[in-house]
Amino acid sequence: MNLAEVFALSFQEKDLLLMELIEGYSCDKCGRKYKGKGSLRRHQKYECQMPPIFKCPYCPKRCKQKSNLKLHGLKCLDANVVV
Ligand SMILES: [Zn+2]
Ligand SMILES: [Zn+2]
Repeated sequence: MNLAEVFALSFQEKDLLLMELIEGYSCDKCGRKYKGKGSLRRHQKYECQMPPIFKCPYCPKRCKQKSNLKLHGLKCLDANVVV
């Protein structure tokens, strides 16, 4: 975008542009903001409006992130499985 194009923008559009510069990248689906393009991509791919996909093998709980499920699984194993 060149300077002339920036001047041609409405105030609202300028605000949006500025917000993007200051606050990073926001998800167009849910509005969550991320500092890096990579984190936004990860969010859109794995989190945004996705049903929780990682299922705990010990209980009906599902997690959106594998790392969360791992943490949960450790607690869950203690609580639910009688050895
Ligand atoms: Zn989102
Ligand atoms: Zn569980």
